[in-house]
Amino acid sequence: MNDDKRFDGDRKDLERFMDGVVQRNPDEKEFHQAVHEVAADVLPFIAEHDRYQRGKLLERMTEPDRVVSFRVSWIDDQGQPQVHRGWRVQFNNAIGPYKGGLRFDPGLTESVLKFLGFEQCFKNALTGLPIGGAKGGANFDPKGRSDDEIMRFCQALMNQLVHYIGPNRDIPAGDIGVGQREIGYLFGQYRTLTREFVGALTGKGVSFGGSELRTEATGYGVLYFVQDMLDRADGDLDGQRIAISGAGNVALHAAEKAIALGARVVTLSDSGGTMHDADGLEREQLETVKRMKQDRGCRIEQVAEKLGWDFQEGKAPWAAECDIALPCATQNELDGDDAQTLIDNGCRLVAEGANMPCTADAVERFQDADVLYAPGKAANAGGVAVSGLERAQNAQHLVWTRDRVDDELQKIMRDIHDRCERHGGDGNGGPVNYRKGANIAGFEKLADAMIAQGVL
Ligand code: GLU
Repeated sequence: MNDDKRFDGDRKDLERFMDGVVQRNPDEKEFHQAVHEVAADVLPFIAEHDRYQRGKLLERMTEPDRVVSFRVSWIDDQGQPQVHRGWRVQFNNAIGPYKGGLRFDPGLTESVLKFLGFEQCFKNALTGLPIGGAKGGANFDPKGRSDDEIMRFCQALMNQLVHYIGPNRDIPAGDIGVGQREIGYLFGQYRTLTREFVGALTGKGVSFGGSELRTEATGYGVLYFVQDMLDRADGDLDGQRIAISGAGNVALHAAEKAIALGARVVTLSDSGGTMHDADGLEREQLETVKRMKQDRGCRIEQVAEKLGWDFQEGKAPWAAECDIALPCATQNELDGDDAQTLIDNGCRLVAEGANMPCTADAVERFQDADVLYAPGKAANAGGVAVSGLERAQNAQHLVWTRDRVDDELQKIMRDIHDRCERHGGDGNGGPVNYRKGANIAGFEKLADAMIAQGVL
């Protein structure tokens, strides 16, 4: 290999590297954004470490192993054929079989799936579990579809996806638009087609191989991570005002754990707007939100009305006065102006429950203002971590108790925190740069595995 000493660690390296990425992946702005965020931390690290300068590691990490797309044809309740596109982006399996969620979203693109698959490689590496990175889904809008339609769509999708997945090959799970119901239908079809009952999907119902706490894991994990951040900064959650965006699985379970730990959840939101109350959500009120949102598909506006909360139409939660902000909805939902408003209102900590919800500008502003900021690949890794534990239980033909899974989850989140601190701390007990720490720790683990296995 004759590509020694390619990076000097200056900004020119980053520009040159990103020019190549943009040229090879034109018009994929979410993917560029995710790669840029990693490369900005990793290129200087590579420049300082001879071991990582050979083998074009970052070039190989930014090129997915493969991207497959396929037609998904199915019949709706009116008897009409419908056609959608399904994808699986298998990004990197150097440290374990491909693993990552499936997203159902009408606006889904290959760029979004590549950014998610790329992030997943680093996130999964950070968990310490033997799982590689992937992502998939379909440009299908589940909103307004009947249960039968969802089932037929999932079956049609699995008729194609079955060729690419398996318990030691690629193990999909849920993501936006894909929860336990969808995983149930996908698993049923997988089992029927293959005639095998194996852990080829995670996020299954607990009665058929799912893990206790998988549903709660992403949201709970975010709060465990926040607790670890606060512990290190001599703070705690008691009485802290938390602004949460979203009202899906991650947001509602983050809210649940926040309340249990004594914090005040002052906002929740959906695409229609934000519900706000300075006193915060009571436990019983959260049960009402869950019932209305999850079981009856209500909008946040209806929930706000029922609870007598203020509803801000078309607004995100970032103008609310809060100590902590947890963006738990979707990518790029919090921009530079939102970040400034949060900073001006006294917010001191931001942890991403969603994947890449903060724009690059927002992250820069948080860091410039010394707001503690944790990227999704660290803070929201609890979901995939418990997926990894589900895979382990399936392979052992065993079921672990809820307490055992919760203990393991807390331990994994603390280990991720410590890995971030190791690579993102200044060594003198100063504030941790969690973004840098997560990127370098993830890179190092993946790079070591790739180096050991040769150029592939
Ligand atoms: N979609 C989740 C994530 O973004 C979970 C993936 C999984 O459990 O495999 O990490």
